[in-house]
Amino acid sequence: MKILLIYPASCSPVSPPYSVTHLASAIKANSEYDVEILDLNIVYHRKKFPKAKEAFQNNKDIEKYFIESTEVYSLENKKVIRGDDPEFLKYFVDLIVSKKVDCIAFSVVYSSQCFYSYALLKELNKKGIKCIVGGPAVNHKLLEFGKFLKNEDELLKEIELLNNNKERVLDFSDYKNYFIPEIVVPIKTVNTCYYQKCSFCTHHGNLKYEESSLEEIKESLVKSKAKKVFLIDDMNHKVRLLKIAKIMKELNIEWMCQLKPDKTWDEETLKELYLSGLRVVLWGIESGSNRILKLIKKGTNVEDIEEVLKNSKEMGIKNVVYMIFGFPSESEEEFLESVIFLERNSNNIDLVSPATFGLQEGSDVYNNPKSYGINKIKKMERTILDPKISYELNYGLSQIEAEKLKRKYKNRINSVNKVPKWMNLFREHMLFLD
Ligand code: SF4
Repeated sequence: MKILLIYPASCSPVSPPYSVTHLASAIKANSEYDVEILDLNIVYHRKKFPKAKEAFQNNKDIEKYFIESTEVYSLENKKVIRGDDPEFLKYFVDLIVSKKVDCIAFSVVYSSQCFYSYALLKELNKKGIKCIVGGPAVNHKLLEFGKFLKNEDELLKEIELLNNNKERVLDFSDYKNYFIPEIVVPIKTVNTCYYQKCSFCTHHGNLKYEESSLEEIKESLVKSKAKKVFLIDDMNHKVRLLKIAKIMKELNIEWMCQLKPDKTWDEETLKELYLSGLRVVLWGIESGSNRILKLIKKGTNVEDIEEVLKNSKEMGIKNVVYMIFGFPSESEEEFLESVIFLERNSNNIDLVSPATFGLQEGSDVYNNPKSYGINKIKKMERTILDPKISYELNYGLSQIEAEKLKRKYKNRINSVNKVPKWMNLFREHMLFLD
């Protein structure tokens, strides 16, 4: 049996796709099937922006690429919304058909991939080719033309395989051409965050926390010849992270990860992590106001966060901080507390990743709106994407007011950055800085 796993355009072409690589390893661990990965995202970017890879390598004209690509994405998406063909659609369809496979599965991780996925699925459907779709961004529109499977177990069942739970070794060694000086291998070692309490977050869904074995992780890193790694786990606890760090040290890997800034990450732990090769941490700070942090149920406070950032920076780790502005019930004063927090800790912050709060279905805020001052939730239908969710508040900044304030304080927020702000979209580049 021959299976084609497709990673559709378009999302940041910064690193090899984790999802299809993981699916391929699950199939190979349980069969002799012929599995091919088709990363249409990188094919698209290499065709559309032929000079971009060189721009990233020479650190020249990168801003120009971002302006151009943003316009192009929006133009192509609008074509799909109107029912027209996006660029290269025929080329992509011919490429897929030429593979002559028995089964085609799409992995849709980001909502920005929904537009090309929809256009491709529709064309393949017209040719009588049935496809499978999976991934966190799959929505009702894609299901018009594809059969939804929830996870790799369902995919294995669909292609008549038994899951023997054999070791799944990921192999990233054949990927090339990403818009980055060298490949940064993405590794996911837990299926969800172990903490699962932040009130805005939906990453954990109803999943039971599971870890992959340390042997599997090590084998995947060796097989992929990894020298730089992004541990894309939502978050690991200290005991496990230190075990993973030991592997990274043994293999002489420089790596980055995402964490929640609480007391767990003391000086001694951060030193051990740095010595293992940890060079960048993306911290989920969210707010500089203790009242908002409590409402988010972040399990930390401003004082502890400041200590963590200071120790991390002193150790030589680069700190990227995720911030959420306009959390329901946030006042203008509390918004400003976050701006002042960033300025006060500027010496210990390399890059700010600022977002305006967005309400997600399934989060605690969505399920218990009254506890967060929300009196009405509204949904607005969209053509390709899932409905847009908005809300009305009893008190605090509205989404529009928060967005306006974010624009007003843009320069103060950006002045904290020590690296260009485009790195928020290409975070793996932080591993190449001195
Ligand atoms: S925001 Fe991060 S730490 Fe909090 S529940 Fe979500 S993944 Fe876990």
